[in-house]
Amino acid sequence: MRTPFVVGNWKLNKTIAEALAHVTEIKNQLGAVKGVQVGVAPPATAIYAVGKRLEDSAIAVCAQDAYWEPNGAWTGELSPQILQDAGASWIIVGHSERRQHFNETNETVGKKARAVIGCAIGAIVCVGETLAERDAGRTLGVIDAQLAGALEGVTNTELLVIAYEPVWAIGTGRTATPAQAQEVHAHIRTQLAGRYGAETSQKVRIQYGGSVKPSNAAELMSQPDIDGALVGGASLEAADFIAIVKAARPS
Ligand code: PEP
Repeated sequence: MRTPFVVGNWKLNKTIAEALAHVTEIKNQLGAVKGVQVGVAPPATAIYAVGKRLEDSAIAVCAQDAYWEPNGAWTGELSPQILQDAGASWIIVGHSERRQHFNETNETVGKKARAVIGCAIGAIVCVGETLAERDAGRTLGVIDAQLAGALEGVTNTELLVIAYEPVWAIGTGRTATPAQAQEVHAHIRTQLAGRYGAETSQKVRIQYGGSVKPSNAAELMSQPDIDGALVGGASLEAADFIAIVKAARPS
């Protein structure tokens, strides 16, 4: 039985004061939710303050990205070690916005995943096809190439979560149908089985991301291979995020 994991990716939103107000509301209302792991990924500037506010809570603080070098002359970058020091216990790597706008490749995503997991921090590795790739029938091949790059040299699967995020569904209001998402999630699990063995593949959580809302969350997360959600836009509203977390509870 995999514990669903729901993470809110706040992207480039919220000052420290806004982040604290938001996370306090989430914490107060989610105190009693059992059977779901919850995380929030504020902008890096708010990680420390949010982590302090969550000290007496089970909600994890996540970072949205990390560089693979631990320290040195890398102006503007943040390493897994630095983010862990600030309070992050999970780090998202390979988000499609990073791949699209910041030239991330399957190879650099792999370097980041290895660096994060090497620091005993959880890595949420994002994969997903564009609309053109889906329309060309290339979805599964694209996912395979992204997984091959991201998981190269990754051996500690206890710290690994995969997020399947079709690029055409991110921030567009267009969600994959539960059947479309399940098909890709099942394929990802088969790929994990090939790499790590069938038993281990059953333990790795695979989140869905792409316009998850309170209205579609329960149906998506009731699919056998969907183990939670990576939520962008809807995580900025406490009531919506809380409703999505509650929809992830195992029945
Ligand atoms: C995301 O950014 O990971 C995401 C899934 O965004 P949204 O929920 O807004 O589509």
